[in-house]
Amino acid sequence: MKKVAVIGYGGQGAWHCDQIIKSDVVSLAGIYDIKENRREAAREKDIFVYSSNEEIFADKSVDIIVVATPNDVHEALVVSGLKSGHNVICEKPVALSVEEFDRMVEAQNESGKLLSVHQNRRWDVDYLGVKSVIESGEIDEVIRIESRIHGSRGIPSDWRCEKAPGGGMILDWGVHLIDQMLKLIPEKICTVSCYTTHITNTEVDDGFRLELGFVSGKTALVEVGTYNFIAMPRFYMQCKNGSLYLSDWKTKPQIAKLTRWIEKDVTPVQNAAGITKTMAPRDNLTLDIYENEIPKSDVHEFYRNFCLAIDGKCEQYIKNCEVRRVLCVMESAFCSAETLTTLKTDI
Ligand code: NAD
Repeated sequence: MKKVAVIGYGGQGAWHCDQIIKSDVVSLAGIYDIKENRREAAREKDIFVYSSNEEIFADKSVDIIVVATPNDVHEALVVSGLKSGHNVICEKPVALSVEEFDRMVEAQNESGKLLSVHQNRRWDVDYLGVKSVIESGEIDEVIRIESRIHGSRGIPSDWRCEKAPGGGMILDWGVHLIDQMLKLIPEKICTVSCYTTHITNTEVDDGFRLELGFVSGKTALVEVGTYNFIAMPRFYMQCKNGSLYLSDWKTKPQIAKLTRWIEKDVTPVQNAAGITKTMAPRDNLTLDIYENEIPKSDVHEFYRNFCLAIDGKCEQYIKNCEVRRVLCVMESAFCSAETLTTLKTDI
């Protein structure tokens, strides 16, 4: 079992500790947090509390350091962790800019240790359900994917509502949804257009709509809202031979698969104040409608993969070049939102 020490024992640091305690590949060495009340919370759970971050960096029995602090202190802690001879897992978003991340990767290359970013939402079953439909080819090639998350409580009133520590929804949720989208459509991005919302917060974005254009003509929408009292579906996908609809985190993907394009004698339907043939629903002679099972997923795979990668037995599942690409998209999204323009990109 590899020993892990966690820096930052807030919401996510505590989540890591719970996962590590349940894990079959890692064990918990202890934590450190700058706040006494958080150190006390750890002691109450019988977790060992280091006296400082420096004590963690000096502990050679530790194999992996997890950085779970607000985003603006990631770089300093990650670089110190690597320089002290440890493998490091950093929470998302790993950095506030591509430049910052490049410095972390440079420190990793010099250290000979591994750096990984906790993009845990690669194990979300909603995303995996869409991925499996694309990979099976059951409704043919993707035309467009829409990925949305809608909440209704604004931004949490902690550091997430301030700019300096790296708050806002592009950095908080965008990083997950963009990461997923780049796995679903593995192509170069040639256009980025982003619009941010500021309904409950003027300092940072409390939501955004990001349009991505890919070289083959595929398009994607990534949208996060925090002022939506009725939520739009989690995923909607148009493919060349059908459509997918997935309403929520843990619902089954619904598929409408085209069995025949040409229909005989489409009867116009009366809808609202008129009639239409174009928008008349299809019958079950030309559409096969079904649900797929929810895929199996185990979030512990993240630590299993990282431990095997440390031992040189496999590649890191979350690659730093992928993480960097997501940061490039986020930088373009901020730039597009600020200038109210669509950017031509080569990402
Ligand atoms: P939080 O405010 O609940 O906890 C952060 C903790 O870090 C605080 O207790 C704070 O005292 C401590 N801290 C700050 N600076 C420190 C330092 N220099 N040394 C030691 N401790 C320090 O925030 P959170 O929600 O736990 O978020 C932490 C990180 O985890 C962020 O990067 C966030 O984006 C990420 N996160 C990831 C997920 C996910 O699903 N992957 C979910 C939530 C949060």
